[in-house]
Amino acid sequence: MDDQPKPSSSSAPPLSSRPKWVLPYKTQNLRDHYSIGRKLGQGQFGTTFLCTHKTSGKKYACKSIPKRKLLCKEDYEDVWREIQIMHHLSEHPHVVRISGAYEDISCVHLVMELCEGGELFDRIVKKGHYSEKEAAKLMKTIVGVVETCHSLGVMHRDLKPENFLLHSVEEDAPLKATDFGLSVFYKPGETFCDVVGSPYYVAPEVLRKHYGPEADVWSAGIILYILLSGVPPFWAETEIGIFKQILQGKLDFESEPWPSISDSAKDLIRKMLERNPKKRLSAHEVLCHPWIVDDRIAPDKPLDSAVLSRLKQFSAMNKLKKMALRVIADRLSEEEIGGLKELFKMIDTDNSGTITFDELKDGLRRVGSELMESEIKDLMDAADIDNSGTIDYGEFLAATVHLNKLEREENLVSAFSFFDKDSSGYITIDELQQACKEFGLSELHLDEMIKEIDQDNDGQIDYGEFAAMMRKGNGGIGRRTMRSTFNLGDALGLTTNGSKTSD
Ligand code: ADP
Ligand code: MG
Repeated sequence: MDDQPKPSSSSAPPLSSRPKWVLPYKTQNLRDHYSIGRKLGQGQFGTTFLCTHKTSGKKYACKSIPKRKLLCKEDYEDVWREIQIMHHLSEHPHVVRISGAYEDISCVHLVMELCEGGELFDRIVKKGHYSEKEAAKLMKTIVGVVETCHSLGVMHRDLKPENFLLHSVEEDAPLKATDFGLSVFYKPGETFCDVVGSPYYVAPEVLRKHYGPEADVWSAGIILYILLSGVPPFWAETEIGIFKQILQGKLDFESEPWPSISDSAKDLIRKMLERNPKKRLSAHEVLCHPWIVDDRIAPDKPLDSAVLSRLKQFSAMNKLKKMALRVIADRLSEEEIGGLKELFKMIDTDNSGTITFDELKDGLRRVGSELMESEIKDLMDAADIDNSGTIDYGEFLAATVHLNKLEREENLVSAFSFFDKDSSGYITIDELQQACKEFGLSELHLDEMIKEIDQDNDGQIDYGEFAAMMRKGNGGIGRRTMRSTFNLGDALGLTTNGSKTSD
């Protein structure tokens, strides 16, 4: 696929009619903040460099995408979506964390966490292949990332060992997924037809131009086969040959080293490389397969979709925290909230800009949550801060934003000063009452709430107490969203037009 011209390129408009900017806002200059070092890697779209933050001295990786490689409006949108998806997944410990985006006249730059250990691909080449035990550990991480992507309504579409990086040069360094350049948001039941991916890893239904998130599990199955044997299962001299093999070829479990590999490993590979996507294992089912499950400890039960678990967590918060989240959500940048906007659109089926009780009920059902009406009603009431009877976009953001975004100092500071109207350094009962009025919240039980937060018992809340309250108890349920399996995955998303292939 790599040599084929993108179909879009033949009909690409002249440069002059293409958009000038990828990001919807003007950014600062990359080089004012970072010094750029040696080249770390090269993909089809971007070149990645080492870079150092000038004031902190911290090292990052900077992927620079030259705009001359972006041939049409869709290519521009893809880069913008890549940035939003990286933010959307930023809570995951095995996804490369984005720290910022910059744009100048010639390039878009994505500054992200540095992975010094290079690509998983190079490790496999160096080692030949992995032991079953090592491979099972890697697979658990890889498929864990896939499960999280799907639960947040994202399909990766370009899973391969080149796109998993090792965090350090250490032998057992953690893996981090990167390159969401071909990723898309998807809705439950939506099918895609653009042929994207990389030759060895592409699923048969992608070649047949009718596919969904199951295609990611196929690609992960190919990675597993390669980890254990060092060679791809479907191989030929030409791309057409590879595609024929993918569509019809038989899995070779006879050649070396397969005779000495366990039946359980082969069973899992067969179930991941099942050609019928409906019969293929889901990401969560892979994580439950005995070959992956170690020490007979099964992974967490499929829990809630990301939306549901975040709503539940939100509903358990005190009023101040809810209002603070509402203030913070208003301040988040477009790139940080793009993913939640897609989730909102998925649930707001009539595009009215507000989510009604019935829409919330349907949305949660579609992602597989079996809730009673009364439970949904409680979640609705919790998210509906102003008691209007519907959830507007701002309320939805406040209730579903991942709490790692709330913990950032600048967000806490601005929320605190929102409440501390007279800038006295304290939030008083009066100020809280005023805020409740502004948000349409009842003023009942404010005293008790203050008592709980007010560690030094002076009847008001200082910044330290506020920050402690905001940070308290965000880990537990939040982390469970990682394990969510009601596939919002089978649930959400967007289609892009045109075909695009990766290196
Ligand atoms: P492309 O979309 O062009 O394929 P990638 O995001 O895959 O771009 O980046 C290209 C290559 O740059 C990767 O395969 C890897 O070698 C290197 N690279 C990317 N991100 C990082 C990072 N965070 N740390 C270190 N190297 C990286
Ligand atoms: Mg890549």
